[in-house]
Amino acid sequence: MAATSHTSVKPRAGASTLADRWPLLAQRRALVAYLSGIVALDLAAIGFFATSANFRWSDLLTFLALMVCGAVCIEATRRLGMPAGVSRDLLSAWWLPVALLLPPVYALFAPIVLQTLLQWRVRATVLYRRVFSAAAIGLAACTASALFHALVPDVSVLSQGSGPSIMLAIGCAVLFAVLNTALIAVAAHTADPDTRWREVLWDRESVLLDVVELCLGVIVAIACGLNPALLVLALPPVVLLQRSLLHAQLQAAARTDPKTGLLNAAAWQREADTEIVRARRTGETLALLIVDIDHFKRVNDTHGHLIGDQVLIAVAAMLRSQLREYDVVGRFGGEEFVVLLPGADISEARRVAERLRSRVGRMAIPADDVMVTVTISAGVAIMSLHGDDLIELLAAADLALYRAKELGRDRICLPAPRTPPHSPTPERPSSPPDPIAEL
Ligand code: GH3
Ligand code: MG
Ligand code: MG
Repeated sequence: MAATSHTSVKPRAGASTLADRWPLLAQRRALVAYLSGIVALDLAAIGFFATSANFRWSDLLTFLALMVCGAVCIEATRRLGMPAGVSRDLLSAWWLPVALLLPPVYALFAPIVLQTLLQWRVRATVLYRRVFSAAAIGLAACTASALFHALVPDVSVLSQGSGPSIMLAIGCAVLFAVLNTALIAVAAHTADPDTRWREVLWDRESVLLDVVELCLGVIVAIACGLNPALLVLALPPVVLLQRSLLHAQLQAAARTDPKTGLLNAAAWQREADTEIVRARRTGETLALLIVDIDHFKRVNDTHGHLIGDQVLIAVAAMLRSQLREYDVVGRFGGEEFVVLLPGADISEARRVAERLRSRVGRMAIPADDVMVTVTISAGVAIMSLHGDDLIELLAAADLALYRAKELGRDRICLPAPRTPPHSPTPERPSSPPDPIAEL
């Protein structure tokens, strides 16, 4: 299930010292109200279902067995660590059976147990996020549980292979996933109203994981209902899946610049190198752009670093949206971005760079009560014309960028073509040519 690190910290001015100890206080009021409301609802549900539940030792033992499986899963992946930001796990494989087989009150307690363990053993994240995660998962699982028990009063038929009860279990598992995603998406959108609903609600990878969790959860529920000892057989494959999922997430996190979501410098360099080797082998053209935001220091000085960060994020998103899927875009450092355009010749590279320049120039990023606008300058280098490998192309584009800055910024420059090493000495021109051509 997704952790709730969507809820990015956006401190409001004036809450600094208290907010250091209570980061929740630094959040938008609407977000504080929403998170508190969900936690209060969770506590009310615990009170309601705890007093109305019939206690049975067999239920408690099944709950403990499923929680031990969850704990083993967490311990077995603990050494891998957990990527910062939004991360996914397969713990639904354990709390879905809790929801389907046991009275709803257990579904409210299961995420509290496992989130406490995650906080204590894996990653001590901001406490309010863990509390909200536990409450959101608990409420979603409790709703699915209450519905399933209302539709299938004798849940033991699930493990007898009854078709309708299996279909209802799948339906309730879908309801659980949808409710949980919705509760977290509202938190993410309240934390940052600029994010689009589609971004926080829909992500192909995430839906695929939901389907995997749903299948695991229903299969484990059927096996556990048959005989809780069968959990011993379910545990190893779930642990293995959980480990490979975490491994993939850690690998992706190591390639990405956390602020902009673009490739980081090292990952960009590796991918760019691969593209250049391919272009050399196939004889295709290729262009490299270095893009730098003009007078970015002024943005920070005038509006503060947080707005500066929003500008960086907006420029990165604009670059990504204006380029093709297979163009390689990275953040080189600070307010500098690098783009590799496979297959682009000089006129295409100019056209793309000019489009990026004009689109970024037309953007307006809201700061307190004004709109911030920025411009970019870019240096463009073309494979074979300005360099044969990554280092040469970067050096050429950097020189062109330097020239763009000197000429007044908000422009694109190209270096002059290199003189071929063995070509006859050209006639001396009357005045020395400018080594950098402005677009
Ligand atoms: P120029 O037009 O010559 O490029 O001027 P500039 O002000 O953009 O360039 P300069 O190198 O003088 O300043 C870059 C600034 O970018 C300084 C640094 O504080 C800021 N910066 C670097 N990384 C970040 C970041 O992640 N967030 C924010 N907000 N600012 C950053
Ligand atoms: Mg700059
Ligand atoms: Mg710079």
